[in-house]
Amino acid sequence: MKKLCREVWIEVDLDAIKKNVRAIRRHIPNTSKIMAVVKANAYGHGSVEVARQALESGASELAVASVEEGIVLRRAGITAPILVLGFTALSCVKKSAVWNITLSAFQVSWIKKANRILEKEADSKRLSIHINVDTGMGRLGVRTEEDLLAVVKALKSSTYLSWDGIFTHFSTADEPDTELTMLQHEKFISFLRFLKNQDITLPTVHMCNTAAAIAFPEFSADMIRLGIGLYGLYPSASIKELNLVDLTPALSLKARIAYVKAMVTDPRTVSYGATYIAEPGEIIATIPIGYGDGYSRALSNRGFILHRGRRVPVAGRVTMDMIMVSLGENEGKQGEEVVIYGKQQGAEISVDEIAEMLGTISYEVLSVLSRRVPRFYFRDGKIIKISAPVLYV
Ligand SMILES: *Cc1c(COP(=O)(O)O)cnc(C)c1O
Repeated sequence: MKKLCREVWIEVDLDAIKKNVRAIRRHIPNTSKIMAVVKANAYGHGSVEVARQALESGASELAVASVEEGIVLRRAGITAPILVLGFTALSCVKKSAVWNITLSAFQVSWIKKANRILEKEADSKRLSIHINVDTGMGRLGVRTEEDLLAVVKALKSSTYLSWDGIFTHFSTADEPDTELTMLQHEKFISFLRFLKNQDITLPTVHMCNTAAAIAFPEFSADMIRLGIGLYGLYPSASIKELNLVDLTPALSLKARIAYVKAMVTDPRTVSYGATYIAEPGEIIATIPIGYGDGYSRALSNRGFILHRGRRVPVAGRVTMDMIMVSLGENEGKQGEEVVIYGKQQGAEISVDEIAEMLGTISYEVLSVLSRRVPRFYFRDGKIIKISAPVLYV
């Protein structure tokens, strides 16, 4: 870590990832598989390393948002099933089959065209498909029994497509009011019953995200899709308050003080817009983190970081690559470690707290962490891998 030129980095505790998979494993039925959701670079944690750890710890499948994200995992040598949760353009069907990446589908026309594309190839591989059913998310998926049956028939009659799963997605599973979740569940079950009544054998059935897996483990079916819980965060305060599963945050964001000064001479303005004016003699430290790293500009004059286990406020505007913090009357040293998200000497700034400050959710705070921040992967307290665009010069 001493070799960073710009001293800001992310630490990912792979033991926490392992603990989280195991905690969820104990909570859901033995017969339900775990699909680790590693979209958006594993919520900012780094998809390859998280995927490997999750698979080692009890997950058996992976989910991503795009074929490209899937190919990143395949190129790293990961062979577990990978499902693309989003919509895939027909132009990527061939690529998906070649890389053995499963796609979500819900339109007869898309399925027929996909089959035709694969038919044209000399030695096409089969393309695995999960059907997406819209029971209330209103995003993607079949919405009627009639459409579902047509999609199933189109799949069954296509030579190059194999039907391997059917799923739905809850829109309010993280909320205290469980009414819509129950309704969506009921609706999904009645879709499945409708298919069974037509003598159709069901492939892998899945519906639960982290929130539903925690609050409704009885809905786990053949598989759950574990996203935020994998990273040790709760989908919402109300899910955390259920106290059903003990999760451990895996990510910390740290830096070293780049520069410290006492604001003795005028002007004592700090950062763009001169929105902060230091007191005479106030100690201001400059930290190499900014909105270009995913540290929101909305934290200007609002955020806090940890210095010597104490909360110190962001002074003035967050810039693209740096922030200033006020140490007040306390001294600080160039090169000293500070914690932006995570723990230091018993104090903690959680990603949930930052998200609340920003009026958003932890998912967003994590997934915007930029790739220019190096990731250090820890096991048993030791660095086992470093992932960075350019580390040594
Ligand atoms: C992102 C996503 C998940 C994971 O949700 P978490 O709340 O992070 O567990 C599951 N299913 C679908 C369809 C998703 O898009």
